[in-house]
Amino acid sequence: MDATTKRTVKLLDLTAQYLPIRNEIRRAIDEVCDAQALILGPHVEKFEKHLAEYCGTKHAIGVSSGTDALLCAMMALDVGPGDEVICPSFTFFATAGCIARLGATPVFAEIDPRTFNLDPADLPKRITSKTKAILPVHLFGQVANMEAINEIACKNNLPVIEDAAQAIGARRNGRKACAHGLIGCLSFYPTKNLGAFGDAGGICTNDDKLAEKCRKLRVHGSGHTYYHDYIGGMFRLAAIQAAVLDVKLKYLEGWHEARRRNAVIYNEILAGSNVVTPFIEEGNWSIYNQYVVRVKNRDEVKKKLGEAGVGNGIYYPLGLHMQKCFSQFGGKEGDLPATELACKEVLALPIYPELHEDEVRYAAEMLREAAK
Ligand SMILES: *Cc1c(COP(=O)(O)O)cnc(C)c1O
Repeated sequence: MDATTKRTVKLLDLTAQYLPIRNEIRRAIDEVCDAQALILGPHVEKFEKHLAEYCGTKHAIGVSSGTDALLCAMMALDVGPGDEVICPSFTFFATAGCIARLGATPVFAEIDPRTFNLDPADLPKRITSKTKAILPVHLFGQVANMEAINEIACKNNLPVIEDAAQAIGARRNGRKACAHGLIGCLSFYPTKNLGAFGDAGGICTNDDKLAEKCRKLRVHGSGHTYYHDYIGGMFRLAAIQAAVLDVKLKYLEGWHEARRRNAVIYNEILAGSNVVTPFIEEGNWSIYNQYVVRVKNRDEVKKKLGEAGVGNGIYYPLGLHMQKCFSQFGGKEGDLPATELACKEVLALPIYPELHEDEVRYAAEMLREAAK
């Protein structure tokens, strides 16, 4: 194949999702424009109701981002200086960043190398008298081993906060992400399975008191304007985002299914190759926010894939325990071998719902070749 006929498969194409629902989205945005109720208000309330129904939780609270969802949830649980919160190191920065921003210490636990999710077997030894909460992440769209994590949490009387930023709608033993722990956090960043037209996030819980506190914390801790019960933040969801999200929520299950179909094609073509395909634990139904494989010679494979026109990404190249900004917590190379190995071997492939079957086949075949 010469340069002029070379094909390209993008890692993600948001336009392909937008075009078929363009009119519907624009009508929804127009409604907000005409109503001029721009922050919180009826559009946000309607979306929150649908979001809670979708996640199978009693409450859903719209907030300004996934990061702010985590921050607000931890503020609601009074996480602060002197506290420790246990989370994985192999995750997006926000997971631990929010812990540290509240003056608490992120205590990094090891991952199960098959699922990339927090390994419950590593959890008990991380618990101290200072532990305030456990914060598992449902990485790449697969729910962590919540039965085991909940059992350990329960024994130690600790709340579990789910970082479900990459896992809206993912199921484990019939229960959706955000409905396993005490409180769950969602991101609607545009690259997530349910993406807004800007930053947005959500908090889900069955706990009435926590929900009420989060609702106040997102408006500087006030229940009634100018009277403040808590020191909160400005975590409000914009009405335009809620209107867009409410339209998109109707299509979400179909998009999940399309991603799962793409994953099956990858799995078939990559079977028997040097590529380790995603391991989905028994009882799990992944939404494949990312399709992440492992390869030994990752950087070389990445280069070859790029040359073949196949978009790809590395999530994540460096564990949080080794980030410069967390050096005060004393993490160093060798602390978390499974995490550090994953950082060297992972590669994310295009998986978005609108990919054509021949594009997925092409990407899979190029990967299989590149890893030979
Ligand atoms: C995206 C993401 C977040 C943060 O969400 P934002 O909406 O970008 O602030 C938090 N945790 C994980 C695991 C994420 O992937």
